[in-house]
Amino acid sequence: MSSPPQRVLELRQVVKHYPGTPPVRALDGVDLVVHAGELVAVVGPSGSGKSTMLNMMGALDRPSSGDVVVDGQTLSQIRDREVADVRGRRIGFVFQQFHLLEGLTALDNVATGCLYQGIRVRRRREMARDALERVGLGHRMGHRPGTLSGGERQRVAIARALLGDPAIVLADEPTGNLDSQTTEEIIDLFLELNRAGSTIVIITHDRELAARMPRSVAILDGRISHDSARP
Ligand code: ADP
Ligand code: MG
Repeated sequence: MSSPPQRVLELRQVVKHYPGTPPVRALDGVDLVVHAGELVAVVGPSGSGKSTMLNMMGALDRPSSGDVVVDGQTLSQIRDREVADVRGRRIGFVFQQFHLLEGLTALDNVATGCLYQGIRVRRRREMARDALERVGLGHRMGHRPGTLSGGERQRVAIARALLGDPAIVLADEPTGNLDSQTTEEIIDLFLELNRAGSTIVIITHDRELAARMPRSVAILDGRISHDSARP
């Protein structure tokens, strides 16, 4: 008998206000469960609350109310240091702007992304090499970001996110700075990584792209308006 799929990420009635006059209710009671092995697109127009949702999922910010559970840990019930640990070790991040360091090679950009204290540089470089190979950049490890194309830079960032086998990879508009052909390549890479076992959430405003993902969750005005897993 197989056990039920593991819940890697859970949002329970998550509300997020930003102060102001009037205050913004960026998330308005979001419930979402992501199981191990899923690839989920979160899709919505600009201002719908997507980045706010990613910030909650990734423990980058705290909800005004509600709970976020990552890899079995309820973030509101653990110390800040433990939250930082979950964020550093169990979650991989990919952003639209890549956020690579210009002075470092692809290999060192990936190796220094590894927050595991106590892992020797040599071992980290080995892990980084493996990760770069997984994203098809084995031949570019010694290149600096400035000498790489946009698609290659995003692959480096994806390799960095994969380092140390996080429970989940969160990508905020990962193809937002890429042309359409490169977008295809990066989307294919996410699909391939997911088939190989990675659990991934991709945030996008691109409905067509979202429709090609195994599951898509639509968000509007801070609420989930549709979830293809619950038609
Ligand atoms: P999306 O990523 O879908 O474009 P966001 O999550 O960035 O949406 O924003 C949702 C809403 O919250 C918007 O109305 C936005 O202006 C507002 N917002 C986002 N971040 C902040 C902030 N730090 N302070 C105040 N308002 C914010
Ligand atoms: Mg956004």
